[in-house]
Amino acid sequence: MQKAKILRGMTSDGSARILVINSTSIVDDAIRIHNTTPTASAALGRTLTAASLMGTMLGEENDTISLSIRGDGPAGGVLASADYFGNVKGYIINPDVDIPKKSNGKLDVSGAIGHGKLNIIRSMGTGEPYVGTVDLVSGEIAEDIAAYYANSEQIPTVCALGVLVDVDYSCRAAGGVLIQLLPFAAPETVDAIEANVPALSNVSRLFDSGMSNKEIADLALSGIEYDVFDELEVGYVCDCSRERSEKVLLSLGREELENLIREKKDAGESPDIEMSCHFCDKKYNFTEAEILKLIEEAESKKGKK
Ligand SMILES: [Zn+2]
Repeated sequence: MQKAKILRGMTSDGSARILVINSTSIVDDAIRIHNTTPTASAALGRTLTAASLMGTMLGEENDTISLSIRGDGPAGGVLASADYFGNVKGYIINPDVDIPKKSNGKLDVSGAIGHGKLNIIRSMGTGEPYVGTVDLVSGEIAEDIAAYYANSEQIPTVCALGVLVDVDYSCRAAGGVLIQLLPFAAPETVDAIEANVPALSNVSRLFDSGMSNKEIADLALSGIEYDVFDELEVGYVCDCSRERSEKVLLSLGREELENLIREKKDAGESPDIEMSCHFCDKKYNFTEAEILKLIEEAESKKGKK
């Protein structure tokens, strides 16, 4: 499968910028890691696709952006996090969510998500992260992201996201388009963009038909002159490590860890603690001796400070 790519461009009159992603390989990786049902694949895949695009709009190399969707539907919630390069990772709380398709044959993502909130969290290296929150308008994710930009950042935005799941549950095609108006956009360019929006109503079908990012950008900006800046390779990337899971483990505290080990022993189980990464399902195993050693080291470090 080809690596996922993001095309970045801008209209020649400076009215709008455009981002187009073919995220098929990212969504396919997510499906394999999380074993998602088709509806869960669509919900998670759309969120990952949007997060990857939004990552490439961050200002600094160490910045990250996370999209957290919390709804009252059976999906439970979806989280996706991207870096400055557009690499992305994510998970859905209930990967087994399975509800009937909508009458138009599309997977019922809004039914799986339900009513709730979308949080956008931007972490900028040091300091407090910036958090923006909006109520979900539809739970279809693309509309919710457009509403977030319009209401929270006053940036008129067109967002189209799509995931097509194959009969074998793999990702057949996935992708997205994000168009944002810049200050002082020319009214005739705005009108032309609006006229092209219906052509993006089934964006995963466009990618499935073999169209490239450039061809989809041509469609989205039909009748408008624009320049392509670059095309970035992106992927599903998890940066977890044993050191990080050590930190999570230690954050429980000595008492809690000792209780956990004791409970496991009382139940006749191995006292090992296995930490698994939410994003990539990698397992990190810690034996009782290793855990005690970590606690000792952390406490002696604290003592020295
Ligand atoms: Zn991981």
